[in-house]
Amino acid sequence: MSNSEKVRSKCLFVIQDGLGDRPIAELGERTPLEAARTPHMDRLVRQGVAGLVDIVAPGVRVGTDVGHLVLLEQDLSDGHYGRGPMEAAGVGIFLEPGDVALRCNFATIKGDFKIADRRAGRIRDGVEELCESLSAMSVGSDVKVLCVATTEHRAALLLKGANLSPEITDSDPNREGEGLHLLEVQPSSKDPDAIRTASILNKIIRQAHDILRKHPINQDRERRGLLPANAIITRGAGGARHYVNLAEKRGLSIACVSGESTVLGLARLAGLTSLTGPEMTANLDTDLERKATVTLEALEHFDMVYLHLKGADIAGHDRQPGLKRDFIERTDQVVGEILQRYQGSHKLYLAFGADHSTPCGLGEHSGDPVPVFLSGPGLRTDSVASYGERSCACGGLGRIRCHDFVATIFDYLV
Ligand code: ZN
Repeated sequence: MSNSEKVRSKCLFVIQDGLGDRPIAELGERTPLEAARTPHMDRLVRQGVAGLVDIVAPGVRVGTDVGHLVLLEQDLSDGHYGRGPMEAAGVGIFLEPGDVALRCNFATIKGDFKIADRRAGRIRDGVEELCESLSAMSVGSDVKVLCVATTEHRAALLLKGANLSPEITDSDPNREGEGLHLLEVQPSSKDPDAIRTASILNKIIRQAHDILRKHPINQDRERRGLLPANAIITRGAGGARHYVNLAEKRGLSIACVSGESTVLGLARLAGLTSLTGPEMTANLDTDLERKATVTLEALEHFDMVYLHLKGADIAGHDRQPGLKRDFIERTDQVVGEILQRYQGSHKLYLAFGADHSTPCGLGEHSGDPVPVFLSGPGLRTDSVASYGERSCACGGLGRIRCHDFVATIFDYLV
């Protein structure tokens, strides 16, 4: 239920995944955000207060999972959050106590589990059928296997049974590069359940390869010269655990618009309403027009909307500064469209931030702080005139932790 009668303000929080970057020679020693033409965000930053945000602490690298855990005010202190349960929740599968969930990639392997492509040519079509074939496998124990397609080449793998533990390592080497092999899953503690779970998962991975390499979808892909999705790579094991209900905690109705299953899943676990659609691909080709429309509709019904955009992170991982700059420019156009079409009578606050930096020169996440700002009526504005890493460093919010930035946003809403 919306609390709009009590709440005088609404908020749109735009989160650009992996936004932060470093100066790049081919962009004239500017970052993609600094090089992008962003008239709408620049106007908003002039009406607001800017700063730099450390997601957890200066220099600490985090993933999209931890970044969003902090953005959604979850408690990180009680340890183990695997990304698997978030991936599963993103497609409506919630763990029961004792279950273990993992995040998977469909990948292409050759010979002795050597990784030829960790995303199987970014396969999209047929992933559901491949998942079904894996769910039918029997691993010769009381453990049931459920595999569910999530985003693109990704899936959630759920293990159900007695004496399972999420304390296991990834089979994913978590690196790009030539000559890498799938890793043997190891227990990460001496717990007998962890030792058992690691051994079961290794068996599943081998059996998955046998099933997948013979699957008609893969035979067809090979005939068409496409990479077969003949293996799964696992990571991010996690079990059932408690999540703070952010909507209840803040007494607001909150929605999350995203195409990314980890973010959608975490939003659900945190008590938010997840809004998505097949045209939101969590990639550079996502339908931003559609996202704008869904966001505008959500602003009618909810007090706060998190709008998550994945493209900048993808371009960062792909080391494509030009594409990252262009995606940021498209994001700015979407922001302009939302502002133009917004007709609500509430005061509207706009917050801009990111879950971490993904510098194009690095091709992976870094511990650099991310540029943020909050815009809206009644703020103590500063002199920052454009949205960028170095301009925001001079902003009135200073350099703060993400936790404090989020608290600042909510302080204006209630
Ligand atoms: Zn990333």
